[in-house]
Amino acid sequence: KVLRKIVNELIYEEKDLEYLLKLEDKEDLTGLFSAADNLRRAVIGDTVEIRAAIEFSNFCQKNCFYCGLRKHNWALKRYRMTLPEIVDQTCRLAALGIRTVILQSGEDYRYDQDSLVRLIKEIKNKTGMRITLSLGERPWREYAAFRKAGANNYLLKIETTNEDLFKKLHPDDDLQERMQHTLWLKELGYIVGSGNIIGLPGQNALDIARDILWFKKMEVHMIGIGPFVPAQGTPLADEPAGDILDTLKAMAVARLVCRNSFIPSTTALATLNKEAQKTGLTVGANTIMLVSTPMEYKKDYCIYNNKVDVNLEWALSMIQELGREKPRYLKEV
Ligand code: SAM
Ligand code: SF4
Repeated sequence: KVLRKIVNELIYEEKDLEYLLKLEDKEDLTGLFSAADNLRRAVIGDTVEIRAAIEFSNFCQKNCFYCGLRKHNWALKRYRMTLPEIVDQTCRLAALGIRTVILQSGEDYRYDQDSLVRLIKEIKNKTGMRITLSLGERPWREYAAFRKAGANNYLLKIETTNEDLFKKLHPDDDLQERMQHTLWLKELGYIVGSGNIIGLPGQNALDIARDILWFKKMEVHMIGIGPFVPAQGTPLADEPAGDILDTLKAMAVARLVCRNSFIPSTTALATLNKEAQKTGLTVGANTIMLVSTPMEYKKDYCIYNNKVDVNLEWALSMIQELGREKPRYLKEV
């Protein structure tokens, strides 16, 4: 009945989402997951979108409690890629036929507005790729300059919409400000990605229901829902990882509510269990993000423990095993 209300009548109530997120009965879960998978097929189709992330710097000026890149994780070996190194790597991805590159880093202001504008223009000129930025919070004028230079998408996760929890985990951030940044990005014409973390200490199903309703309200185009994975050298290092089933339920409910948004089956999910990433593609997800950071740096982008390497070979094998379609733009290699 709740599923019918959401899927057919398009009525989204907090308590209904919470109810679905709390389902435990096997038959009920099968119903939820197949409803999400059917809707994904109907509104997006069978093609799994493939995007590639270059994690170009692991320096960060912030201290998010869950993240291994936090400034006070003194044990982490830090690196910065040079602009030519980043451009070279995007050229390699373009040669594979990949169309969207995600440039991700900690909040690292050593890459200032001018150098990032130059980088965006050069990538555009050399590859014509779509560019997603995931640099954390930046001033409005910088978002505007990057957009003008040719950046297409911006990924800035809200992480949690629970004000108290957000405050506890983000000593340098403010939830209302993060929401304002999301609005700015939309107003500037970016295609905006958001998302949350499942299984943060103190978070409950109602929090997750509210996150999903916020994604709906903001009409975000991409929703990255990943489990919390403990990271060495952080205040949450000894907390248990987020639950895989809870993450899958959140992905399914997000698909039912946000309908045509892009939902990745995340690297964090693969880190807890590689098969779970494949399962993610059967409960509403339609996107895979490759980890395409050059080998010599990859091992130091330790957002959390034992981060797995999601590469093109693994992505294609998942797509094949599930009988889904790989994107036409990929070159045969
Ligand atoms: N600094 C940028 C930012 O915060 O948006 C981009 C890099 S940050 C490492 C990218 C994402 O990693 C965050 O949005 C957060 O959701 C995720 N993340 C960080 N630590 C995590 C953890 N321990 N478990 C799961 N996800 C985590
Ligand atoms: Fe820095 Fe982003 Fe990690 Fe927060 S989540 S510590 S801003 S890299």
